[in-house]
Formats: sequence, structure tokens, C-alpha cells
Amino acid sequence: MLRRTARVLLGLVMTITFALGGAVLTAGTAQADGCYTWTRTLKAGATGNDVTQLQIRVAGYPGYNTVLAIDGSYGPATTAAVKRFQAAYGLAADGVAGPATQSKLYALQDNDCTPAHFTYPELNTCNSTWAGGKVAAGTAKANALSSMWKLEALRHALGDQSIRVTSGFRSASCNAAVGGASNSRHMYGDAVDLGASPHSLCTLAKQARYHGFRGILGPGYVGHNDHVHVNQGPSRFWSAPSCGI
Ligand code: ZN
Repeated sequence: MLRRTARVLLGLVMTITFALGGAVLTAGTAQADGCYTWTRTLKAGATGNDVTQLQIRVAGYPGYNTVLAIDGSYGPATTAAVKRFQAAYGLAADGVAGPATQSKLYALQDNDCTPAHFTYPELNTCNSTWAGGKVAAGTAKANALSSMWKLEALRHALGDQSIRVTSGFRSASCNAAVGGASNSRHMYGDAVDLGASPHSLCTLAKQARYHGFRGILGPGYVGHNDHVHVNQGPSRFWSAPSCGI
């Protein structure tokens, strides 16, 4: 975000320079972002990659026990997710992703498109690359990015206190070395393990139900008394009996 701010400032300096030089500038904001910049207001009915980019970033706001489809089509579920995102950040909750909503998203994203409070290295402590899992490296990395935006929503919902990631993507060999299940979603890049403190494991597991995770495993489920596992696998499976889940 700091580097993004620097780029915006640089952009402003350049704008002023061009203005002084007599160049004709297009009216409107000189918005610039190191990761991604939207060029139009998005609302119900819109389609395209810019909608996909929006959906990735608001997918942590699908509502209870729901997963937002990242399909590039701005339908009712996207409108509802945008409304929840807007409400979470004190914006007018109209379900339309205009300048105010886009600005908040710019403020939340780093130049590598990760959300402000999570990083790629944090989601990849077991390996140095994203290769060697069950999917192509690029897919594993994209899955991790998607998970991070959901974690950002979870973090915000829990009062903006830190969330401790203890494991993310694992290559197959890495997964075997740490005793992961043979079909672990960690090898797909979409699973993340969370440790206790400042939040209890049950607080994390319960809140995760609202942020788009199909898989939630926690205290009371075999092997999960010391962490909460969340994932975006194809089938819904929640179990944390000690937390009432
Ligand atoms: Zn796990």
C-alpha cells in the first residue's frame, strides 16, 4: 500500500508536469494502482475480467455458509457480497462497485494483489515455489490469493486483530513430510491453517463460516485440536465438534 501511494503520488507529479507542459489531460481522477485499476463502475448485469477481479476481492463476504462464484458475471450474489463489503467498511451499501468501493479495495491491496494483511510467503512456508502440488504452480498461487482475500474479510470481522497462519500451500513432498492427508487441499494451494491467539480456535472456526470457506476443520476433529484448517475444496465439510460445529 505504501508503494501504491508512492505510485499515485508519482502519477500526480507526472500529471502536474504534463499539465504544465500544456498536454491535454482527460478529465477525471488519475487513479493508479500497482496491482489492478478499474476503469468503470461495476453493477448488476456487468460482465468481464474487471468483474472477476472484483469478485476475488469481495469473495470473503458471501454470507453464512455460502461461496461466491468467481465467474465474471455481476449477479445478485455479487451485489449482496458488495453490499456486505461496503457495510463492513462504513460505505453506503448500495451493491454498486463505484469509486468509493474501488478506492477502499485499492487501499486494501498491495502491489502484488495480496490483501494488506497477508502475503504470498506467509501462505508458502513449506516450499520456495508454488510447484510440486496437485495443480499447476500458477493455479496454486491463484488459489492462495483467493484464500487470502477471504482471510482478510475474516480478520476484519474479528476486529482487525492479527490472524496467525501456520501452514498454507504444500508441495506433495512437503505435505508428506509434515504428515498431511494424502488428498490434502494444502497441495492445491487453497487450504490455510490458523493458529490460536489473539483469537481462540473456536472463534476462528465459527467466524470462518461467514467468509466463503467450503472446508472448516477445528477442535474436536481428529488432528485439529491445535489449529483451524480452512479450505476452498469442491465439497462442503465442516467439523469442529468442540466448538459446536
Ligand atoms: Zn490444514
